[in-house]
Amino acid sequence: MDRIHKLSEEVVKKFKNSGYDVNIKDVYKRLKLLIDEFKVPEDEAVRTVTNYLLKELDIPRDKLVVDSPLVKIADIGSPGQWISLKAKVVQLWDSSSPNVSQVGLIGDETGIIKFVIWAKANKPEVEEGKNYLFANVVTDRFGGKMQVNINKYSRIEEIDEDISLPPRDVDIVGALVAIQQNSGLIRRCKICNRVLTKGVCPIHGKTEAYDDLRIKGVMDDGENYYEVILNEENIKNLTGIGLEEAIELARKHYDREIVLSELKNKLLGRYFRFKGRRGERYLIVNDIEFLQYDEVEKAKEILSKIGGETIG
Ligand SMILES: [Zn+2]
Repeated sequence: MDRIHKLSEEVVKKFKNSGYDVNIKDVYKRLKLLIDEFKVPEDEAVRTVTNYLLKELDIPRDKLVVDSPLVKIADIGSPGQWISLKAKVVQLWDSSSPNVSQVGLIGDETGIIKFVIWAKANKPEVEEGKNYLFANVVTDRFGGKMQVNINKYSRIEEIDEDISLPPRDVDIVGALVAIQQNSGLIRRCKICNRVLTKGVCPIHGKTEAYDDLRIKGVMDDGENYYEVILNEENIKNLTGIGLEEAIELARKHYDREIVLSELKNKLLGRYFRFKGRRGERYLIVNDIEFLQYDEVEKAKEILSKIGGETIG
C-alpha cells in the first residue's frame, strides 16, 4: 500500500470515528494532488483535506475527534502535553498500585519511555512486542523523568507496522552525575543474587549472603540521562578499589558505607567514555574509561552548549 493511500485511510477513519462517512477515492485524489503535484508536506496536506471535508459536509469542527499530533519519543520534552505516539511495547512491569492497569516501557526508533495506563482509562491490555498507536496521551514528569499517561480520553490501537527500537549497543561520552544509595559494598542473597536491604532479601528474607561491589548511577551525555550499572571489574579498573580492597577498607573503618563515599570521591562528576548494552532498565557497562584532559574540555563544551547540567 502506498503512503498516500495509508494517509487517506487515516483521514477516512478519523471521520468514521466521529460518525461520518467520507469517500476514500475523493480523499486520495486530493491528497495526491497536494503531496505529489504541489509538494505540500504530508501533515499539512492531511490538515487541508480534513478542513475541506469539514466545510463540504458542514460538520462542526468540535464534532470531529481530532488526534493530538503524532510525535517521536525523542521529541517529548515537557509535561502536560497531549500527543500521539506510534510505539512498540518493550516491557511490562509489575504494578503495585490499584490505580494502574499497566505500566512499563514503550519505544520507537528515537527512544524509550515509561508509560502508565490508568485503571480508570478502561483500556484493553497491551502486549509486549506488539506495536500500537497511542493516541491522545498526556506527557508527565515523574521522578525527574518523562513518561506518558494513558487516560480515558486516550485511544490505543494495535497497528500493522513493526516499529524499530533504538540500537541496544551504546557508546557514550558523558559525566557521572549521580550515584545511588544502594551502591558500593553491597550484600547479595546466595540463592537469587538479589541485593539485600538491611540484611533482608526481598524474596528469601533473612538468608545467607555474600559481598559484592557495584555502582548504580546516572550518566549524562548532554542529551539524555542513562541509568548505568558498573560491576566490580569496571570499578576496580577505574579506581583501583576491587572487592578485596573494599572489604579491607570497610574492616579498617568498621563502616561499610566508607566504600561508597570513597567511590563517590573518585568518580562523581568525572567524565567517561563507555560502551554498554541496554538492559531492561539500566545500561550494563562493558567497558568504561576516564576521558583524557583535552577530551574532557571538549565534552564540557558540548554539555554546556546544549544546557546539560554537570556536577563538580
Ligand atoms: Zn534471595
